Amino acid sequence: MAIHIAPTLLALVTVGVFFPSTVTSSVLQKLAAVDTCLTTAGVPTYASGSADFTQAIKPFNLRLPFTPVALAVPSTVAHVQAAVSCAASLGITVSAKSGGHSYASHGIGGENGHLIVDMLYFNNITVDKSSSTAMVGTGARLGNVATALYNQGGQAISHGTCPGVGVGGLALHGGYGFSSHTHGLTLDGILEATVVLANSTVVTASATQNPDLFWALRGAGASFGIVTNFKFQTFTAPSPNIVFTYMFSFGSQQQAVSAISAIQTYTRSTMPTELNMRFTINPYSTTLSGVYYGSQAAFTAAIQPLLSTMPAPLYNTVQSMGWLDTLTAYSNGALATTLNYDYHETFFAKSLMPSELSDAAITAFVAYWFNTAKSNTRDWYVMMDLHGGAGSAISKVAADATSYAHRDAIFKFQFYDRVDSGTYPSNGFPFLNGWVGSITSAMPNTTFGMYINYADSSLTADQAHTAYWLDHYPKLTTIKMAYDPKKVFSNPQAILST
Ligand SMILES: Cc1cc2nc3c(=O)[nH]c(=O)nc-3n(C[C@H](O)[C@H](O)[C@H](O)COP(=O)(O)OP(=O)(O)OC[C@H]3O[C@@H](n4cnc5c(N)ncnc54)[C@H](O)[C@@H]3O)c2cc1C
Repeated sequence: MAIHIAPTLLALVTVGVFFPSTVTSSVLQKLAAVDTCLTTAGVPTYASGSADFTQAIKPFNLRLPFTPVALAVPSTVAHVQAAVSCAASLGITVSAKSGGHSYASHGIGGENGHLIVDMLYFNNITVDKSSSTAMVGTGARLGNVATALYNQGGQAISHGTCPGVGVGGLALHGGYGFSSHTHGLTLDGILEATVVLANSTVVTASATQNPDLFWALRGAGASFGIVTNFKFQTFTAPSPNIVFTYMFSFGSQQQAVSAISAIQTYTRSTMPTELNMRFTINPYSTTLSGVYYGSQAAFTAAIQPLLSTMPAPLYNTVQSMGWLDTLTAYSNGALATTLNYDYHETFFAKSLMPSELSDAAITAFVAYWFNTAKSNTRDWYVMMDLHGGAGSAISKVAADATSYAHRDAIFKFQFYDRVDSGTYPSNGFPFLNGWVGSITSAMPNTTFGMYINYADSSLTADQAHTAYWLDHYPKLTTIKMAYDPKKVFSNPQAILST
C-alpha cells in the first residue's frame, strides 16, 4: 500500500466530499490544521478519500461506519508521538486502530471526526526464548503472532480464535480463547507496554514502572494512550492437544435447562485447568467444543463427569493435533493474515458475564431460545464460554490485579446476529436485547458485567461504564484524570465519556 503525506483536506471538505455541508468553518479550519500539522511533522498518512484511506476506515462491522478527520500510518514511535501532539494541540480526539475488529468500530473512533492512528506497521514479533518473552507490535494480527511465536522457538501466548483480530485491541481489553482457562487472558501475559501518552511522551508501563497505568491498560487500554509494543510472557506451545466437538439435540426445554445447569456446576467446581470449552447454540446445531491440553486418556477422564449428566451426543469428534493445527481448527481459515485483510460482517452483538445463573435465569434463557430464537431465520448464534470457576487461570488472578473486571464470571456469553447482505434490520436489536433481558430480568438484583471486546453499540456511556468495568470504574476515572485529563483518547464508551 502506498503511503502519502497528507494533502490539504480543506479543498476536499469544502466541496462536501467527506462531510455534510453543515460543517462549520471552525471544523474546516481544524481539518486543515491537522493536515498541515501532520505534514509538517512528517507523519505518514493515507490521504482522505484515497483508496487506502477508504479501505483502512472500512469497519469490521459494516453496520457502524465512521469518518475520521485524518488517518496516520506511523512506522516509528516518534510518528505516533507527533500525531498525538498534533491532535491534542487542536482539540481533536485520538483513537488507535490495530486490527479494526471492534464491534462498535471504536478503532475508527466509534463516531465521526477522530484522528485515527493506524498501527498496522507496528507488526514486528521477536521471541527471546531464553527468558520466555516476546516483543510484539500492537498492529500485529493474532494469526501472524501465533505463527511467529511458534516458528521462533515453539512459543505461544493465550489469545482469541480469529486470526485477523489485532493483538492491540484484544490484549488491552481482555483476550479470551481456547487456552485461557489454562493460561489466562491475553492481558494476563503482558509484562510491559510501551505507551504514547496524551502529552505525547513515551513511557513504559509494567508492574514496577507506572503501575497505575499498567493496571488501567489491562482492561481499558483504549482510554489511556497508544500502546506501540507489548512484552509478553510466553509459554511452550503445547502439543499434541485434544481438539473436540460434541453435538447435542435437546428434545425439550427441560432437557436443555438440565444440560446448562450441569455445565454450570461442572465449570464451577470440577472442570480441570487443562480443559477449555464453549457451548454454542445456532439455528442449525448445539455443540460443546474445545481443547484439552493433555493425553487422550486424561481428556476422557476429565470430560466424563459432565458427559454423564448430558443426553448422548448425536455426533462427536475427538482429535489429537499439534499447536498450530489446534489454532487453525478454530480459526475459520488460514492463520496467516496479510496487510490488506478485507473481511467484514453486518451485525449486532451483545455479551454477558454472569458470576452465576439462577435456575430461573437458565429457564428463561432456554424459553427464549426455544420460543423466540428458533423462529428467527437469520444467522444468529450464542456462544457460552466456560470462563471461570475453581480451575480457571482467569479466576485464579486476584479480582483487582488488573482493570479487567470479570474474574469471577462463570460464563462469557456472546449473543451475535448478522445479515449476509444489506442493512441490519431494526427488529434485530430487540431480538438480542430480549434474549439478554431474559436472563437479567430473572435476576433483578444482580449487576451484570459485559465484555468490552464485544462492545455493544446500544449501551449509553453510563451503561457501558458500569457493565464493562463494574466496581473498577471509579479507580479508572482517577487514573484517567492523571494521565489524560483533556480526554485526548476517547470514544463513545471510553472512560469518562458522556
Ligand atoms: C471476527 C472476530 C473474532 C473475535 N474473536 C475473539 C476471541 O476469540 N476472543 C476475544 O477475546 N475477542 C474476540 N473478538 C473481539 C476482539 O477481541 C475485539 O474486537 C478487539 O478489541 C479487537 O481488537 P482490534 O485491534 O482488532 O480492533 P480495533 O478496532 O483496532 O481496536 C479495538 C479497541 O482497542 C483500541 N486500540 C487498538 N489498538 C490500540 C493500541 N495500540 N493502543 C491503544 N488502544 C488501542 C481501539 O482504539 C479500540 O477502542 C473478536 C472479534 C471479531 C470481529
